[in-house]
Amino acid sequence: MALQLYDTYARQKRVFRPADAHRVTMYLCGPTVYACAHIGNARPAVVFDTLVRLLRHTYGASHVVFARNITDVDDKIIAAAAKEGVPISAITSKYERIYHEDTAALNVLPPDIEPHATGHMAQMIALITALIEAGHAYAAQGHVLFDVPGFAGYGALSHRKLEDMIAGARVEVAAYKRHPADFVLWKPAADGEPGWDSPWGRGRPGWHLECSAMIEANLGTSIDIHAGGQDLIFPHHENERAQSMCAHGGKRLANYWIHNGFLDMDSEKMSKSLGNVKLIHDLLEAWPGEVLRLALLSAHYRAPLDWSEDLLHQAKATLDRHYGALRRLENVPAADVPPPKAFVAALEDDLNTPQALARLSALVSKANKAQTREEQALLKGQISAAGSLLGLLQESPEHWFKSDKGLGADDADAETIDALVAARVAARKARDWAEADRIRAQLTEMGIVVEDKADGSIWRRQ
Ligand code: AMP
Ligand code: ZN
Repeated sequence: MALQLYDTYARQKRVFRPADAHRVTMYLCGPTVYACAHIGNARPAVVFDTLVRLLRHTYGASHVVFARNITDVDDKIIAAAAKEGVPISAITSKYERIYHEDTAALNVLPPDIEPHATGHMAQMIALITALIEAGHAYAAQGHVLFDVPGFAGYGALSHRKLEDMIAGARVEVAAYKRHPADFVLWKPAADGEPGWDSPWGRGRPGWHLECSAMIEANLGTSIDIHAGGQDLIFPHHENERAQSMCAHGGKRLANYWIHNGFLDMDSEKMSKSLGNVKLIHDLLEAWPGEVLRLALLSAHYRAPLDWSEDLLHQAKATLDRHYGALRRLENVPAADVPPPKAFVAALEDDLNTPQALARLSALVSKANKAQTREEQALLKGQISAAGSLLGLLQESPEHWFKSDKGLGADDADAETIDALVAARVAARKARDWAEADRIRAQLTEMGIVVEDKADGSIWRRQ
């Protein structure tokens, strides 16, 4: 089977065909480094790391170039630096370091290229100059603006009409704009604010422009895959696309646009503005990073994912079971084999991680039952290869059970089982039979029998 990805632009799954199979290019909009990242921000980092692992597996590691940027100049960074009375670099270097630590704990591999916005001022100024020369941008009162009505393809990515965008959106109307939808490519720096010299005065770039310039400088004018969260489709990616296409004679910026769904808390998007965030840093105090990673991969990347304690307990129980199986095979050398075809096929189906995880669980069940050493070696090798594509199960079982963060490890512990049973009772109450069955199957795999009584459910070990 060939990789298929849901392309936001085409609004359908498309077979993935890179322009050059020897240089597959992918860009992910990275963090704005002014505060600790929350677990919602970790979702794109983890799911697209998984896609990069799959691309490397398919095309060869040296044939994939993955860039994830650092946005290190921005209004929020400037505000944070002003509040603390330090230069912006003091804020950005601190939070970039924490971001690296947090994502490394989630087994996110470092990108091949990590461009910084502040390191690309010359390219940004060149890009704006090209847009002005092509008649797609204009300077006004120290600003440079992109001329939205001059680009007929505007709105094609987010599937919005220009009139609706203006009617519905909070577009800033300013005297220097020719059209309310025109957006900023360059803006003047106020006194005391960080700024760079440019033909339009001292100032700084707009956020959208930064990504367009970093993509061009590091990957080229046209890339295979552009990724990010769904909240970036409009205006960020729509604007990136408009700028890059207009500066490059209409050449496509990305052949596939892919977007992850939101991570929610009580059905609301986790976001700083709503104040319902759980920081990766804090969660790592209580849970192994691998538990957080598995929880993030447990839903399909485009579906919403509701974050809860139950989800974490379930992920922990699954990993205990998997590492428990590997521990029992500790003296069996793993065969050097690729991940099974059916497992890879699940990932190739628009990165269907729930299905891939189900297949991994099935391999673990098989390994638990395997009788011959040969069969055990094969399954251990397959589990390890499949785990590596997901960024899971790469620790030694001994380390996994030792480093347990006071959660009571070994195979399934009582607290975890209680939590699962309670989640099943809740699912039954909500008449969510599919979820209730799924949890029962998980408990069965853990060797737990559940009995439903009139006044609740009880469990016992098999
Ligand atoms: P921000 O720091 O808000 O620019 O977000 C960084 C990345 O995290 C972007 O790709 C966002 O789309 C993504 N993101 C932010 N909040 C969430 C969320 N609750 N669920 C999933 N992705 C998110
Ligand atoms: Zn971007």
